[in-house]
Amino acid sequence: MLDEKSLKEARSLLEGSRRVRALTGAGVSAESGVPTFRGHDGLWKKFRPEELATPEAFARDPKLVWEWYDWRRGLIAKTRPNPGHRALVELEKSVRDFWLITQNVDGLHQLAGSERILPLHGNIWELRCLGCGKSGEDRRAPLPELPPECGECGAMLRPGVVWFGEGLPQETLSKSIEVSGDAELFLAIGTAGAVEPAASMARIAREAGAQVIEINPEESSLSSVADVVLRGKSGEVLPRLLG
Ligand code: NAD
Ligand code: ZN
Repeated sequence: MLDEKSLKEARSLLEGSRRVRALTGAGVSAESGVPTFRGHDGLWKKFRPEELATPEAFARDPKLVWEWYDWRRGLIAKTRPNPGHRALVELEKSVRDFWLITQNVDGLHQLAGSERILPLHGNIWELRCLGCGKSGEDRRAPLPELPPECGECGAMLRPGVVWFGEGLPQETLSKSIEVSGDAELFLAIGTAGAVEPAASMARIAREAGAQVIEINPEESSLSSVADVVLRGKSGEVLPRLLG
């Protein structure tokens, strides 16, 4: 249950802040129908995401990993942004200095219209060539062949996402650290806070003096960092926070 007192408190924090940052995770897209990794329906053919989203798994069996991505791309292609995504677009327009840091690779924030966005873990629609390095976006699903090949050089393409054990895109990471460090208000939304360095952004903000609001129906690793906790679904809580 969302308690009214916390909602009021969060509203007044939001009203008094010029530099607002939001960190989003898979939970924000759950109401659109995109499974989270830690939920039960995150499983595919009995594999755990941690066994598929790694450079080792891709080196061992690229076709298997691509089948999983093809399945996820097909699933995401059928989904639409939900009221939580749309509320974040509204927030971007109403706050003077806003940044959205996302761990999501589904592109739903971008589809909703978010522009000041830092996609820490890449984008599932991007295809990157392992041979010539060329990358491009392809929203078609399913792909014509698995694993897909580069039209330029014929080498194998990989999904433009960050796998477990890989480094994050350097510029996006630096910018995320920078904007977290000068936040006045930091919203941690729909993230378990289990993946680093994304989870640290909330801590960086907190240590720099920002107020932290968590929006999540469940307790998470970031709950202890939060000044205000809003227990509820982001698609329901965010519109109420703004409204
Ligand atoms: P996670 O799957 O570990 O955790 C999801 C969190 O969302 C949980 O804390 C859960 O309580 C919460 N949640 C569930 N439903 C919610 C709702 N309606 N509103 C608000 N919160 C809700 O996800 P994570 O922490 O983002 O990390 C997992 C990693 O997996 C990330 O690195 C991300 O790149 C990747 N991933 C991305 C997607 C996507 O792009 N949509 C989906 C699955 C996983
Ligand atoms: Zn190529």
